[in-house]
Amino acid sequence: MLDADVFVIGGGPAGLAAAIAARSRGLRVTVADGNRPPIDKACGEGLMPDAIAAAARIGIVLPESEGFHFRGIGFHGEGHSVAAEFPNGFGVGLRRTSLHALLVEQAARAGVEMLWSTPVTGIERSAVHTKNRRITARWIIGADGSGSRVRRWAGLDRFTRNSRRFASRQHFAVKPWTDLVEIYWGDACQIYLTPVSADEICVAFISRTPEARIAGAWRRFPQLESRLGGAVPSSNERGAVTAMSRLSAVVRDNVALIGDASGSVDAITGQGHCQGFQQAEALAGALVTGDLMRYAAQHRRIALRPAVMADFMLTMDRWPRVRRRALSAMAAHPQSFARLLAGHVGALTAPQLAGAGISLGWKMMVS
Ligand SMILES: Cc1cc2nc3c(=O)[nH]c(=O)nc-3n(C[C@H](O)[C@H](O)[C@H](O)COP(=O)(O)OP(=O)(O)OC[C@H]3O[C@@H](n4cnc5c(N)ncnc54)[C@H](O)[C@@H]3O)c2cc1C
Repeated sequence: MLDADVFVIGGGPAGLAAAIAARSRGLRVTVADGNRPPIDKACGEGLMPDAIAAAARIGIVLPESEGFHFRGIGFHGEGHSVAAEFPNGFGVGLRRTSLHALLVEQAARAGVEMLWSTPVTGIERSAVHTKNRRITARWIIGADGSGSRVRRWAGLDRFTRNSRRFASRQHFAVKPWTDLVEIYWGDACQIYLTPVSADEICVAFISRTPEARIAGAWRRFPQLESRLGGAVPSSNERGAVTAMSRLSAVVRDNVALIGDASGSVDAITGQGHCQGFQQAEALAGALVTGDLMRYAAQHRRIALRPAVMADFMLTMDRWPRVRRRALSAMAAHPQSFARLLAGHVGALTAPQLAGAGISLGWKMMVS
């Protein structure tokens, strides 16, 4: 008799989602994490409508009272502004620690065994090692984030793509002035603002320079200086690396990777959690059929749309001319922006999204 059916290494959002989804399929699940909850991490803290829908499908419910409901996205930059609402519900801005506490609570209610302050030190065919124990399990899930050691231990550390940018996050005690997530486009850097409660916003700053900090960022975004230049911080600044990374394989034998351990999209997309929740649903289905290759195929499909959108936004980041033309065309044709946003949050089919992209591309050329 094995100690568990599924052992999840890493109790971040993706690991807990995988645990909850597997448990709801009747599997016995243990999660181990080296930290103690609630675990904080630099994050833009926006859950898109498709993330909320994916979470609901695996039984994760975000209580109405939690966080701040936002109804769309606004882009500002190069003298232009454009905004659109989500066609498929609302997003939720939620402090990372609140999201984590909520997931821990729901995992406990589902009957997941959780081992905190328990770093995993190694794996073998059907067992994991912690400092004091060897725990046997049929399936081992690597949910240990972007620097995954499970990925290395399982021989899955082969990237077909891996580019990085640098990010900082800090909260400010400011009443949100909008119910949108706002993205401000600067020169090779962006700031995005997510309201996380009625009197607090989360600021994420992303650039290609590791030294860049939020305190110095305002002068690059004059529209924000008056609103946030003198605002009172309500948390410490926290840094992170955000990667566009893809692996050549995410499963091997009885090991599967999930969340950032399995590859990631740039933070500017706000799609990290959505991917993790969708992967958790796919993984639980594959575990009960005993066919991890099924998960590998679904993982590729889940990664496709966010990667396409990330490439578009990173092209805007890198090429000032593209950024100017894109922002000008979207401001002149807000319905094109609305179509793109609908595609981004999964409300369009792949051919419809391709059509929206071609249509915007044409408008950029003729504008
Ligand atoms: C600046 C920034 C902004 C972002 N903004 C958004 C956003 O607005 N919306 C969105 O959806 N996504 C956003 N993302 C992406 C999102 O934060 C990630 O996709 C998400 O955190 C991935 O979750 P995870 O569980 O895979 O990894 P993590 O959250 O990194 O969790 C990994 C866990 O594994 C544990 N661990 C590591 N090694 C071991 C070990 N050996 N043993 C035991 N435990 C271990 C760690 O302690 C950690 O708790 C953003 C990312 C960044 C960097």
